[in-house]
Amino acid sequence: MTAATGNGTAEALNDQLASLDLTGRLSLVAGLQGRAVFTTSLGIEDQVITAAIGSERLPVDVVTLETGRLFPETVALIEETEERYGMTISRYHPVADDIDAYAARYGLNGFYESVEARHACCNVRKLKPLARALEGAAFWITGLRRGQSGNRAQTPFAELDAERGLVKINPLADWDIERIRAYVADNAVPVNPLHARGYPSIGCEPCTRAIKPGEPERAGRWWWENDEKRECGLHVPDAASPIPAPSAA
Ligand code: SF4
Repeated sequence: MTAATGNGTAEALNDQLASLDLTGRLSLVAGLQGRAVFTTSLGIEDQVITAAIGSERLPVDVVTLETGRLFPETVALIEETEERYGMTISRYHPVADDIDAYAARYGLNGFYESVEARHACCNVRKLKPLARALEGAAFWITGLRRGQSGNRAQTPFAELDAERGLVKINPLADWDIERIRAYVADNAVPVNPLHARGYPSIGCEPCTRAIKPGEPERAGRWWWENDEKRECGLHVPDAASPIPAPSAA
């Protein structure tokens, strides 16, 4: 089975994955023809998937987008996780010329000024490195959960990402946060200490704040934007504006 066979493949895979546990889901995908890539942001959901991949030594490429604006706690957790599971987490960085062009056009922290400027920053620091990370991949494994936000409430276990030409796999789609926390506790999975300080969802440092009691899990991401569906574009392909070329400076 390959991603190239299209939406029918994704639908059939979705049905197969629904009846399996986490290890079964990951093992099934890892055993299919084609490269499987797991992109981790080192958040608690992603740490659960990393633990399952590492514990079973599954043939999945584990990668992270090292945006250059991550919290020090997140950067430290990358190394801690590699040591814990004896694996390599490949870092994908933005291109220096793209950062220079962005800074010249918007200012280094121009993302606070407009949604367009924010999407352009995510494009340079996340989407372009993501495209490189997913080159040649047939399957893209993510830590998306239905309970993370209303925007993610319909997350399937497998879906065709026609734009990227692969099948996206969400093995934790039906897990709630209590189940995630129980897995972490039962398996001594290392997690970001920021979670205990009010950060259920952790992205880049300048774009993430702690949430208040009762707020949705992702309320601390790009909190200054007045858009309930705000995302960085990784999981909403049309959300980001075009990548500014270096010459845009
Ligand atoms: S989350 Fe913020 S700092 Fe990170 S890439 Fe997006 S706009 Fe830039």
